[in-house]
Amino acid sequence: MPSRQIALYDRCSVLTFSDILGHDEPLRRLAGLRDRNAIPNTLLFSGPEGIGKRLVAMAFLASLFCRGDTRPCGACAPCRQIAADTFPDLVMLLPNDKGVIPIGNAEKREPGSVRWLVDRLARRSVSGRAAVLIDGIDRATDEGQNALLKSIEEPGEGAVIVLVTADRSRVLPTIRSRCFELAFRPLDDQAIMRHLSRGGVDEDDARFIAHLAQGSFSAAGLLMEGTTCEECLALAGEISAFLIRGELLTLDLGGLQKRLSAEAIVDTLTAIYRLNMRVLTGARDVAPAKEARGALYPVFYERVCIDNLSMVTALVKIFLALRAGLRYNLNLRNSLKGSLYRAREGAAGDDASPDTLPERG
Ligand SMILES: [Zn+2]
Repeated sequence: MPSRQIALYDRCSVLTFSDILGHDEPLRRLAGLRDRNAIPNTLLFSGPEGIGKRLVAMAFLASLFCRGDTRPCGACAPCRQIAADTFPDLVMLLPNDKGVIPIGNAEKREPGSVRWLVDRLARRSVSGRAAVLIDGIDRATDEGQNALLKSIEEPGEGAVIVLVTADRSRVLPTIRSRCFELAFRPLDDQAIMRHLSRGGVDEDDARFIAHLAQGSFSAAGLLMEGTTCEECLALAGEISAFLIRGELLTLDLGGLQKRLSAEAIVDTLTAIYRLNMRVLTGARDVAPAKEARGALYPVFYERVCIDNLSMVTALVKIFLALRAGLRYNLNLRNSLKGSLYRAREGAAGDDASPDTLPERG
């Protein structure tokens, strides 16, 4: 099959509002606030991981500094500086490689820490406006969030702070109550599909990947890399073969785990078998087996799809339980293996009677 290696977005540019896929409602509201000169000091963007909240935040903040006609234009000096992360009045704070935003030492104020950011905010801006983007505010401790509170309560002249979170329950209520909150929804399959198809992906493959990505652009991006999607399908195929025909279960996750987190692997398996459920319940948006083209649906129907709704439902429940357990550092391979063995024993008595097994040619 042709390479599916296409970039979802060009990372080295500021996107114009119309380049951003989905999120029409938040974008419309942000443009309205900007055009009425009614921008709140602090905004909170909440919504699932990987759907483009940070892109919207970047585009919105760039639009405040842009000198083009349609803001942001992506081409003027401020837009280009913002894309290159060299614009003096826009500071971005992201979780470090441990996945946290540290509060930082009170004296040293290490770059990338909350205290460093507070210090930067206290300085005079070059353009008369300072903008801050914190993507992952929930990754700062309560102490870290509290350290930020003063900057939110007493922002400098023209300061705009955008906080982004995929888990608003972990944002302190004292912070939330001081923010103008915009809720972002997962992208619909159609938006992801259109984008993938535009990048040259076969239409049915794009539909399949969009199903698996569950509204997340970054998940779609990961699944598009190399043969990741095929490997996920192969893993699911092994699970199905084990449950239906008692074939050997090796669950070699080595290669996949180099590219996907344990969470992403479980999410993808969940999505694959949810698709299986939809096939069994006759959901209309599932590509029909006979007409499916591309490389992915045929493998799904041939090797993965189980013709037994209660077994598939049980499987999805197993994945959801595993997903919750991953928070406690549970070992994915061992836990998955254990759960699948128990599931097969449970199903051996009733559900998996031979007459419910799918036909194979
Ligand atoms: Zn511009």
